Amino acid sequence: MKTKPLDAEQNAQWNTEASNHYYGLKHWGRDHFRIDTDGLLEVYPFRGSRGIRILDIVEEAKSKGFELPLTIRIQDLLRTRVKELNATFREVIEEEGYGGAYRGVFPIKVNQMREVIEEILEAGSPYDYGLECGSKPELMIALAQHENLNSLIICNGYKDDAFISMALLGNRMGKTIFLVVEQLSEVSRIIKLSKKLGIKPKIGLRVKLSTAGEGKWAKSSGEEAKFGLTSPEIIDASKRIKEAGLEDCLQLLHFHIGSQVPNIQTIKRASVEATRFYCELEKMGFPMQYLDLGGGLGVDYDGSRSNDESSMNYTMREYARDVVYNVKSVCESAQVKVPDIITESGRAVVAAHSILITEVCDKISKNSIEPEIIKDSQDVAIIKDLKSILANEFKSNPLERYHDAVQKKEEADNLFNLGYLQLKDKGLADAIYWKICKELLDYYRHKKIKPEELDKLQLIMADQYVCNFSVFQSLIDHWACNQLFPIVPIHRLDEAPSVDALLVDITCDSEGKVDSFVDTEDVRSILRLHELKENEAYYLGVFLVGAYQDIMGDLHNLFGRVNEVHVFLEDDEEDGFYIEDSIRGFSINEVLGFTQYDGASLTRQMKKQIDEATKKDRIKPREGVRILEAYTKLLKSQTYLSEQ
Ligand SMILES: *Cc1c(COP(=O)(O)O)cnc(C)c1O
Repeated sequence: MKTKPLDAEQNAQWNTEASNHYYGLKHWGRDHFRIDTDGLLEVYPFRGSRGIRILDIVEEAKSKGFELPLTIRIQDLLRTRVKELNATFREVIEEEGYGGAYRGVFPIKVNQMREVIEEILEAGSPYDYGLECGSKPELMIALAQHENLNSLIICNGYKDDAFISMALLGNRMGKTIFLVVEQLSEVSRIIKLSKKLGIKPKIGLRVKLSTAGEGKWAKSSGEEAKFGLTSPEIIDASKRIKEAGLEDCLQLLHFHIGSQVPNIQTIKRASVEATRFYCELEKMGFPMQYLDLGGGLGVDYDGSRSNDESSMNYTMREYARDVVYNVKSVCESAQVKVPDIITESGRAVVAAHSILITEVCDKISKNSIEPEIIKDSQDVAIIKDLKSILANEFKSNPLERYHDAVQKKEEADNLFNLGYLQLKDKGLADAIYWKICKELLDYYRHKKIKPEELDKLQLIMADQYVCNFSVFQSLIDHWACNQLFPIVPIHRLDEAPSVDALLVDITCDSEGKVDSFVDTEDVRSILRLHELKENEAYYLGVFLVGAYQDIMGDLHNLFGRVNEVHVFLEDDEEDGFYIEDSIRGFSINEVLGFTQYDGASLTRQMKKQIDEATKKDRIKPREGVRILEAYTKLLKSQTYLSEQ
């Protein structure tokens, strides 16, 4: 790989502050991510104090045999988020003189990892922070992990008899478990099973609000949503509950307006509407006690503080204040006692704690081969023309020169297709054309105003940095719904980044790429990165990936889960840390197992063919042994690109 010296002038002006600005660290990093004076990116689990260099974590993990790609979980940062959510609600409740409590639950579906759930429960235990589950497997996690009887378990999602019975048995153990009715048919099932088991249920109703959500996940609410009860259904459900003599069991009203709600106005409207339902149920004689506002509390992925889909125009405090204030004022005017407030905030709790580290392992570039541009009388006409344009013999302005080159490039393509141009000349024509494009882009690089046609050209000419990871495994929402995640080199941030790049992954799928990047003003289609150096790794961090990405990722191309380390701050050292747990990513043998192959039988199939080849003298016995050894060794190794 060729390395180019940096534009000296540009580099002299660059400093870590410039990186800070360019990569938006101040905006989305929110005191958790900063650059130190050596240009290394640090994570601050507690905000402000005690940073850890991410490069140090990567090196420590590598020394323990964990190759990249690597998921790093900063467990102390996770704790910080749990505490902040609970403390914020408590403070706001106090400030507003609100008569109820905050009884948050963590929605397991946002990150089911045992180490994540355990950390959350431990950090949340002083606040009686509970769990939310939406399926039978998640209920199994919730029941066993939930030891604090003062905290709640909320059951959402579609429920069959087994789900309901298990939850009821949990109630019998002294846990407070709410079965939230998503569908009318669940009411009769709950009544039937509670009679059968002789256990009183705790019932919540999920209401389909007419306040529509906003953002990528807006379809979770509104009248066409797949979950929840319409107002006639709420009346019907409550009637049936009353008739079954379970009037005292209906205590909770729930709604969920969708994840990542970008606009605070939506939250305000939804809390008012839901509180109205709550008050009406109370007035109908049900001993209502809890209002559950579901998820939706956003994460400001691009740091723009706007109502863009990847952002939010409010803070956690503003969210809490608006919820508390609106619930209170609606209850006051209805003269109903205020409820305890539950939120099921998932994304906001877990997104920040997890970082994906990948290494750039190659570069695909249109400018990697310098065209030979000596004048040659033997040149065919089209090449002569292009060379003259390159040398700017006609003294055109940069844009004119580019337009001329576009025309000649088209001509060259036609000539080649018709058989009038040889491959060597086509190669030269393309290379000259790209060089002219590159020079045009360089000319405009630092100009404030750029011609619009350059946007597309910039994309075409951008280098593709090949990164050792799979978008489908690690950043599924980027592929599926163009969700943005901040991406930043974790080192060299004191150097000017001089390459316009896109990222491509190592899957054999053209969709396996990242070509939209966070920017506080707009979405960037290219990211400025550093020139690769020979014999020096270049690491990129993808940030705020702790919510949903872990479990939604798939096995496309059979890459599977990546290596993972869990990092804790060292108590008695200023910037010390240690890796407590580490989890190996899937080996090739394991991913093959998911598609019904079995490593041992594959090895047998190989052995049979090797024996055959040996017998027929196509290979020597020693070679046969070596081939089989290589095969079995590779089965045990990791699926991603490996240095070993
Ligand atoms: C997904 C989900 C959540 C979590 O939403 P976040 O936006 O991640 O906070 C909460 N409650 C329900 C019912 C959900 O389906």
